[in-house]
Amino acid sequence: MGAVKVLVTGGCGYIGSATARWLSQRGAAVTVLDDLSEGHRSAWDGEFVELDLLDRDALHQWAERKEFDGVIHFAARCYVGESVQQPIRYWRANVVPVIHLCEVMQGVPLVFSSTCATFGDPLTPTLAEDHPQNPVNPYGATKAAVERLLRDREEAGEGAFAALRYFNAAGACPSGEHGEHHDPETHLIPLACQAALGRRDELTVFGTDWDTPDGTCVRDYIHIDDLASAHEIALRRILDGGSSGAWNLGTGIGVSVKEILDAVGECLGSPVPFVEGPRRLGDPECLVADPSLAKAELGWKASYTDIERLISTAAVWHQNHPEGYSS
Ligand code: UDP
Repeated sequence: MGAVKVLVTGGCGYIGSATARWLSQRGAAVTVLDDLSEGHRSAWDGEFVELDLLDRDALHQWAERKEFDGVIHFAARCYVGESVQQPIRYWRANVVPVIHLCEVMQGVPLVFSSTCATFGDPLTPTLAEDHPQNPVNPYGATKAAVERLLRDREEAGEGAFAALRYFNAAGACPSGEHGEHHDPETHLIPLACQAALGRRDELTVFGTDWDTPDGTCVRDYIHIDDLASAHEIALRRILDGGSSGAWNLGTGIGVSVKEILDAVGECLGSPVPFVEGPRRLGDPECLVADPSLAKAELGWKASYTDIERLISTAAVWHQNHPEGYSS
């Protein structure tokens, strides 16, 4: 990465901190900006500023004395269910900070943390970049809106962008020091690890009557280090004058909820206690990436394609950090 100066917003969060560490280990001068509303201060031990991107004046004041070659913007709210209940909060939290950032970072290339939720219900078995974007919840809609904002900014010559649409971010840093910690936790793999370790009673499988091989939902789980490497490649591309664009980041492999529970049980040597429940509102049946464009244009592909290998990284984190970053 060399000595490029990179601002990582939301760099104390799950994917943000993995990317900040990844870039820093490769020689980038990384500054993390986070308001710590969701992130964990101990997830990042480098240059840090605590700042709320909604506070336009504070951002302007801070940024006046700074210069960055590139920005990677992670800071956002990211719960689908919450976005349905609190849409205005999501529009404010996910769109306004980007406007403020673009105002202070005129001309600076920006990598944006987007999502497969911008597509809405899949019309094809795997999702390629040209799949229509019809988000079915406010979370996906805010991310799609920011993609549009960044395209408009780029077309006006105000800065290149790379929108990276993640599928299901998963796993932990292989050293076991960093991992997933949300409060409250809603994601399948951490819940399954906690249940297998006896830290919660059981988890509920949301629907067993889907039209999938075992009746449970299918997702594409992508390791956070694979996401981090994609950010490095995308940033380098737009810093070097390559064209802007949006890329889907996944393995291309679908894994069912039951397969995840089996793999977690296997990795932790103890079965995951679960009950079968109704479908969760807003859940698509199957979300799997077609990662060919990222391979062709970015030269990127996932290295964690074996689900047990991916889950074993999460299992180590949860075993060693029963309370996450509070441990
Ligand atoms: N899931 C589940 N029980 C839970 C949490 C999640 O069955 O307690 C399912 C969920 O319906 C989805 C998959 O696990 O099919 C992954 O959900 P997660 O919340 O981890 O990520 P999402 O796909 O919503 O981004």
